Amino acid sequence: MNDSPSTKNTYEGKAKTVEVLSDEKVRIIFTDRISAGDGAKLDTIPGKGKMNLTLSNRLMEVLEEAGIPTHLLERESETTIIARNLRILPVEVVVRNIAAGSFSRRYGVKEGEELAQPFVEFFVKDDKLHDPLIDRDVVVQMGLVPRDKLELVQARALQVNRVFTDYFSRGGMVLVDFKLEFGEDKEGHIWLADEISADSMRVWDAQTMEKLDKDRFRKDLGDVLAGYKVIMDRLDGIGGYSPEKQRMEVVVTIEPKHSVTNPGGEVTKRTLLNSGMGGIKDVRLGKTVNITVEDSSDPKWLDKLNQICKEILTNPMVETYTLGFR
Ligand code: UDP
Repeated sequence: MNDSPSTKNTYEGKAKTVEVLSDEKVRIIFTDRISAGDGAKLDTIPGKGKMNLTLSNRLMEVLEEAGIPTHLLERESETTIIARNLRILPVEVVVRNIAAGSFSRRYGVKEGEELAQPFVEFFVKDDKLHDPLIDRDVVVQMGLVPRDKLELVQARALQVNRVFTDYFSRGGMVLVDFKLEFGEDKEGHIWLADEISADSMRVWDAQTMEKLDKDRFRKDLGDVLAGYKVIMDRLDGIGGYSPEKQRMEVVVTIEPKHSVTNPGGEVTKRTLLNSGMGGIKDVRLGKTVNITVEDSSDPKWLDKLNQICKEILTNPMVETYTLGFR
C-alpha cells in the first residue's frame, strides 16, 4: 500500500485508509476505491471494501493457523479492522506460480505458462519511481531491509504460497500470483501486514481459466465484484479449512574470520596443492547447520535464533554466520 500522510494520524492509501490509534494499534478502513495502472484508472465499486476485508481476514486467519504471524487483531465493523501498528517494510513481495502481468511483459513469457517452481520478486515501494522491481542485494545495500529479515520475509512468502495454493485448489481455483507486505513492530519483529484480497492476487477458475480477480477491472472483463464473490463463495463452500502447520528450514552458515588462522583450511589447502591444483591462495573451512523448525509462529523467533547463533552455534571472536531460510 503506497500511503501518503494526509493528516498526522491518518494515511490515505489508494484503496485503504489507515488511522493510527496508539503506538500499538491502527484502524484500517477498507474503502470501495479501486485503482490500476499506477493510479491511471480509478473507480469506486460499492461493496468492494467489505468484500476485500472479509476475504483478507479469512486468509489471515488461515495463515495464523498455519503458524504465520499477521497484523490482524480484530474485525471492528464490516469495513474496518484493528491491526498492529507496524513500520511497513519498503518492499512489496510478489510470489508467482504462473506467468502473468508484469512478469509476462518483462520477460516475454506467455500468460498462463506454469513456472518451474514458485518464486519471489521484490518491488521497491516508491511512487516517484513507479515501484520498480529490485534485486535483493540492492535492497540490502540500500539499507531498505537487512539481509536476515529479507530472507525471512522471502521464506514466509513461500510458506503463504504453500498454504494458499492448497486452499484455493480445494475451491477449484488456481492461484497465479499475489503481493504481500510485511511490517516490523518497535522491537523489530516481522508480521505479515496490509491486505490479501482479490485486489492483490490473481486467481483463475481451474476449469475455465476465467479471471476472478482485479484483472477484471484492469482489462475491463466485466462485473468486477462478481468475480471477487466467486472467490469468497468457493472458499466458503470448502467449509472449515485447517492448513498444515508450516515448517521452516534454517541454514546457518558459519565461516571463520579472515583474521584468524584456520588449521582445517590450511590442511585442505595443502591437499589441494599436492593434488596438482594450482592458483590457490587461501582455503578456509566453515560449517553449516541445518535446522528444521516445527513452529516459527512467534515473531520473536528470529531474535532467539540470532541469540542462539551468537551464544551457542558460533564463537563470535573467530567466526561469523549468515542465516538462510527455506
Ligand atoms: N500487485 C498488487 N499491488 C501492486 C502491484 C501488484 O497487489 O502495486 C499484485 C497484482 O495484483 C498481482 C501481483 O501483485 O497479483 C503481481 O503483479 P504484477 O507484478 O504482475 O503487476 P501488474 O500486472 O499488476 O502490473
